[in-house]
Amino acid sequence: VLDKAYFVKVIADLAAIVEEQRDYLTGLDSAIGDGDHGLNLSIGFREVTKNLGEWQKENLTILMKKIGMALLGKVGGSAGPLYGSLFMKMGEPAAGKDAVDFNEFYNMLKVGIEAVEMRGKAVVGEKTMVDALRPALDTLAGAIEEGVEPKTAFEKMLDSAKSGRDSTIPLIAKKGRAMRLGERAIGHVDPGAASSCIILEMFYKNMP
Ligand code: ADP
Ligand code: MG
Ligand code: MG
Repeated sequence: VLDKAYFVKVIADLAAIVEEQRDYLTGLDSAIGDGDHGLNLSIGFREVTKNLGEWQKENLTILMKKIGMALLGKVGGSAGPLYGSLFMKMGEPAAGKDAVDFNEFYNMLKVGIEAVEMRGKAVVGEKTMVDALRPALDTLAGAIEEGVEPKTAFEKMLDSAKSGRDSTIPLIAKKGRAMRLGERAIGHVDPGAASSCIILEMFYKNMP
């Protein structure tokens, strides 16, 4: 089972690594966007960190909802509403509980990632975070179907997210700010795909 302590640790680690990777993410966004992605996430996760001690008293549904709402309110740009939806929606399958089994956790990721897709209306191949998130989810579903044990299934998921991230390099953007660059976006990693890998990596790393 994945209990609240797991989720709290994932979020705390995520806040720390966002600080560490802030300039890297902002650098990616400088190449094909407006150079604020790392900064946006840092502002959002600082707000989360400030409140995490208080929020961890809540059940998983409310905890995730509060995290998502903070990101929605503070991150701004495109990523704010997208990651806001991801975390807000993720809590719903947890149905007010303090712990979930691995299948329930898969459902959390599923509704979260579907919410990102619904909100941004991006599909794979448009040079967005969906290029990392969608294949990751599909790989996880396949691994579960095959009966792969959770940690290994998650490792496969992360590999798939990273391949998806790297697959954005040769692409022209069809969504978001990078769209305006046309062919000049070719040769650069999408910043949102990179931050999505970082998010999934923290879920993987802390998995028992
Ligand atoms: P902004 O572009 O408003 O400055 P950020 O820099 O924080 O916002 O985030 C940019 C990232 O948001 C992009 O790299 C891309 O992955 C993601 N993104 C933008 N638009 C969409 C969309 N419609 N669907 C999914 N992801 C998107
Ligand atoms: Mg930006
Ligand atoms: Mg911006």
